[in-house]
Amino acid sequence: MKTLLAKRNQLIKPSPTLAINAKAKALKEAGNDVVSFGAGEPDFDTPAHIKQAAVKALESGDTKYTAVSGTPAMKQAIIHKFERDQKTKFQPNEVMVSCGGKHTLFNTIFALCDPGDEVIIPVPYWVSYPDMVRLAGGTPVFVQPVDKESWAITASDVEKAITPKTKAIIINSPNNPTGGAYDRQTLEAIVKIALEKNLFIISDEIYEKLVFSNFRFTSLLDFVPAYPKLKDQLLIAHGVAKTYSMTGWRIGYCAGPSWLVDAMAALQGASTSNPTSFAQAGAIAALTGAQDSVETMRQAFEKRARLIVDLLRDIPGVTCAEARGAFYAFPNFQKLLDGGRFGKNDAELTDYLLTKHNLAVVPGAEFGAPGHLRLSFAISDEQIKKGVLRMKAALA
Ligand code: GLU
Repeated sequence: MKTLLAKRNQLIKPSPTLAINAKAKALKEAGNDVVSFGAGEPDFDTPAHIKQAAVKALESGDTKYTAVSGTPAMKQAIIHKFERDQKTKFQPNEVMVSCGGKHTLFNTIFALCDPGDEVIIPVPYWVSYPDMVRLAGGTPVFVQPVDKESWAITASDVEKAITPKTKAIIINSPNNPTGGAYDRQTLEAIVKIALEKNLFIISDEIYEKLVFSNFRFTSLLDFVPAYPKLKDQLLIAHGVAKTYSMTGWRIGYCAGPSWLVDAMAALQGASTSNPTSFAQAGAIAALTGAQDSVETMRQAFEKRARLIVDLLRDIPGVTCAEARGAFYAFPNFQKLLDGGRFGKNDAELTDYLLTKHNLAVVPGAEFGAPGHLRLSFAISDEQIKKGVLRMKAALA
């Protein structure tokens, strides 16, 4: 009966980041001493005031359907966030809450893409972007970065990739999987091209708060005062998962033009309905409450970024760019792969590290960058040291 499956299932495979995570978990549960650099999931607990807000909501009976696109209070919290951080005022019909950042992006792409539409995706990309575009019937158009420090593509790269079928571009800065980030000038040049060519910009800013001291985050919204037309062709995809260590809560949100948010809400109404009522209550506390835990976690990630990059650079044959933000290192292992001793590509190397040395990493090919490995450093300093030293020994 498997032949009954719709053809679109062949367009995608299980999320590789989540698959590695599941494998590492299973090995751990079987008693193995696994160090997992797998899924991008902060190791901190969700701050207490956020949990308490959700508990209070549960206890007071906040257990029913909410409006599909989010409770009025959650929408106000999103509006508050963008006013506080980006000095941009949105109306309730321009913001929306979904079941995780991934769901926000899924809704966005499905609301925008007709079959045959092209979406420009800078390489390396987060694993799910191309799958979402393909599922929507669209074609991902990959653009390679030239600079391996920022991993940013340039406006002229974007211009060259545009065809009459191009509908949108996805920007993700700070970036998963590289930890790179775009500077203001590069983003502004991309904005100008997008405006000139009527290209919609989907800006995934979920790592906004996780930037390191040598770098300043630029939101695409920062360009709206200078280019007012941009507000009608820009959607900011965001979520509470990474900033407040709330991955399991599944609350993503967005801000964009009402014509798009309306369409996304209709899609959501046809699929999941509202995100969990009491998780929204927790997210309100996250977005509007004290932000000191964000800075505490950011500082820890910055320290770990330095630690992991130094340790990785100490492995003969490995190069690694400085991380500007997020919690990923994206070292290049091509030299070691050329020797062929540990596998002929990054997938085989990943397999070797996991099965022989209990080290979980994600192969770069999954992000469109073969020869690399992604290491999430959202784990303790001790685990980072132990894991990378073990890797060095495994590759000696
Ligand atoms: N965004 C995280 C990662 O890249 C979570 C896993 C996922 O949803 O793919 O590891």
